[in-house]
Amino acid sequence: MVRPLLDQAPPNLDRRRPRELGALLGLGRHLLRHRSDLSELADIMTMSVSDFLDQWFEDPAVKGALSPGGVIGAWAGPHSPGTAYVLLHHRLGEAGGQRGGWGFVKGGMGALSEILASAARSGGAEIRTGARVSQILVAEGRTRGVVLEDGTELRSESVISAIHPRTTLLDLVGRQHLPARLVGEMERYRSRSGSAKVNLALAELPNFRALPSSDAGPQHPEFIINPSIDYLHRAWDDAVSGHWSREPMMDCVIPTTKDRTLAPAGRHILSCFVQYAPYQLQGATWEQEREKLADRVVELLGTYAPNLPGAVLHRQVVTPPDMEQEYGLLGGNIFHGEMSLDQLFFLRPASQAGSYRTPVAGLYLGGSGTHPGGGVMGAPGRNAARTVLSDLRRRNWSARLGRFPGVG
Ligand SMILES: Cc1cc2nc3c(=O)[nH]c(=O)nc-3n(C[C@H](O)[C@H](O)[C@H](O)COP(=O)(O)OP(=O)(O)OC[C@H]3O[C@@H](n4cnc5c(N)ncnc54)[C@H](O)[C@@H]3O)c2cc1C
Repeated sequence: MVRPLLDQAPPNLDRRRPRELGALLGLGRHLLRHRSDLSELADIMTMSVSDFLDQWFEDPAVKGALSPGGVIGAWAGPHSPGTAYVLLHHRLGEAGGQRGGWGFVKGGMGALSEILASAARSGGAEIRTGARVSQILVAEGRTRGVVLEDGTELRSESVISAIHPRTTLLDLVGRQHLPARLVGEMERYRSRSGSAKVNLALAELPNFRALPSSDAGPQHPEFIINPSIDYLHRAWDDAVSGHWSREPMMDCVIPTTKDRTLAPAGRHILSCFVQYAPYQLQGATWEQEREKLADRVVELLGTYAPNLPGAVLHRQVVTPPDMEQEYGLLGGNIFHGEMSLDQLFFLRPASQAGSYRTPVAGLYLGGSGTHPGGGVMGAPGRNAARTVLSDLRRRNWSARLGRFPGVG
């Protein structure tokens, strides 16, 4: 029931236009067709991941292994309502033709950006990197282009922004160009997170006590350290008191077990997603704590794979404030805003900007802060592009018809 909704623009309930009514009717028909699943959908949208998994599993280890999907990127614990949906979101994708599957990108994540860039270039696009936009130009309710940090002005009739929606609307456009209600919604838009990354360069693969092997095996491409939901709850407890978790949940991948081009022969990369690490620490700064977090992560991993601490050649710690400063992820939220019920579908990021269009004519949103949210899936961008194309077609038709007398 949910997967087909990923590829469509949600109806904009704020606009009374025939196309929005059509979209609303289509959605109503879709839900009616799946009415027998509606109570399950309501469960998933509102339940905690802990309650949800309790319905299906008994073994604490199985629930421990599955529950991180409900809190990854969220400022929430396993008992927080709404985390069952985050688990579903993490299973909605498809990789290698496998529904719910995940994949590694050959050549690293940058290779995916390069593929998209070369497709765009072959379609005639010019791409500028290292060109930060400092303002979106607006006059008479319509966008006129952007200004770059170095003062360069680029004029255009349409601007599509795929950065954090609050930055786009409040900082680059400016409150003076937006309806007060949208400004209020964007000020209240929640973008907290407790995620950090500890990336390690390794001289050898971790040799796990549970499944010993110095060669790459099924235990290596991805492993999750989260023995139970109680463990995850204790980790969350630390975070709500303003401390990084003494025993964090860790979702680790070793992409070099799949792609030897990423590291010199015999060496490996271990990328460890760590929760929880609050954006704001109680009584300490991240500069004081960053290396301590990495020490603890390596120490804990060593209890599962005793050779690991001695195999670390280099390490990199990315804290939530780093993510904000380096990637523009406000509050360190990896999805450009929390994926809670009130920030999903036509409410993502706000009711007046929930279907890629904004109240500023010609300005569109198209990143993770729009439907269907975060993750490397391209759906927000594709839906936004279709919306822009449909508006351009409509404008072209209106312009043509406008040439005939009596047709407006
Ligand atoms: C630590 C971490 C781990 C993750 N793990 C996974 C995972 O395993 N699987 C998965 O599917 N997803 C994962 N995600 C989420 C995924 O990376 C994002 O949802 C996805 O990258 C969002 O794509 P986007 O194009 O919407 O925005 P982004 O990838 O955030 O791209 C926005 C771009 O705009 C640039 N930018 C910002 N401000 C400006 C400006 N003013 N002017 C010009 N450019 C600007 C940014 O530098 C950035 O390059 C992870 C995210 C993080 C942070």
